[in-house]
Amino acid sequence: MYVVTGATGQLGRLVVEGLLARVPASEVAVAVRSAGKAADLAARGVTVREVDYDRPESLAGAFGAGDRVLLISGSEVGRRIPQHTAVVEAARAAGVALLAYTSAPGAATFRLADEHKATEAAIRESGLRYSFLRNGWYTENYLGDAAGTVDRGIVIGSAGEGRIASAPRKDYADAAVAVLVGEGDEGGHADTVYELSGDVAWSLPELAAELAKASGRPVGHRDVTPAEHREVLVGAGLPEGFAEVLVDVDAGIARGELAGTPGDLARLIGRPTVPLAESVRTALKG
Ligand code: NDP
Repeated sequence: MYVVTGATGQLGRLVVEGLLARVPASEVAVAVRSAGKAADLAARGVTVREVDYDRPESLAGAFGAGDRVLLISGSEVGRRIPQHTAVVEAARAAGVALLAYTSAPGAATFRLADEHKATEAAIRESGLRYSFLRNGWYTENYLGDAAGTVDRGIVIGSAGEGRIASAPRKDYADAAVAVLVGEGDEGGHADTVYELSGDVAWSLPELAAELAKASGRPVGHRDVTPAEHREVLVGAGLPEGFAEVLVDVDAGIARGELAGTPGDLARLIGRPTVPLAESVRTALKG
């Protein structure tokens, strides 16, 4: 079986769709927090198993011997080391054939990457065959409110001219599918580390220029200090702790930690990644 955790999330849904385009639904299972949220998948013949990363006992029946599993990292920052470790332990106990994990870029030294590094270490220690899908930033991180950004006419950040080699979730999802089904330039994918990124890195001033070009309206960029950035994010409604995490990421971007373009993603998916300009146009249409 192919088993996907976090399958009712945004990335997970795309992975499951990609799998269903390649293999019969009878070979696909999802391990999700809420079976109700996956009712549509069950109706299409996908096996639905209810698990909670916080409850190790719920993970006992999640995987079977020989399964090829994608662990999609959880969304509760600060709790993910015990959560992911519980999933790794369940996968080890079941004897899965491959554990793929959505990690963070190897160059990242910002705090958000710490839990990913710890998870990679736990997977290596488990003795399981693994594939680390070190996902760069989602382009959607910057375009969730593209129309609002255009209305405000300003992109604000503390990353300076630091570059971001982002790609849309769909590109990362396609790479995960390629690894799960064993396609791509290297075949089997056992014990692989992929640095996944968009083909072209861009900066926040360039993002502002793309938004201006696609909308036909003026959009500028303002680089602010980390303290000012934190204030802007909290003012926009983000919890203090998360604002702090994002400001820390921008410092990493300024250091060039999300700028790498090794080409692993395009090689795995067999096509160029979707460029920023195209994602901007799509976001403004939606
Ligand atoms: P989502 O928040 O849409 O999905 C996260 C998934 O994890 C959801 O399906 C959620 O379940 C599941 N999950 C969370 N906690 C638990 C738990 N305790 N037990 C079981 N399942 C759980 O995020 P995305 O799909 O957009 O991204 C996937 C992951 O990538 C994120 O969780 C995060 O780790 C990371 N990420 C990466 C970014 C990047 O730019 N590279 C940006 C943002 C996140 P449910 O559907 O029930 O909520």
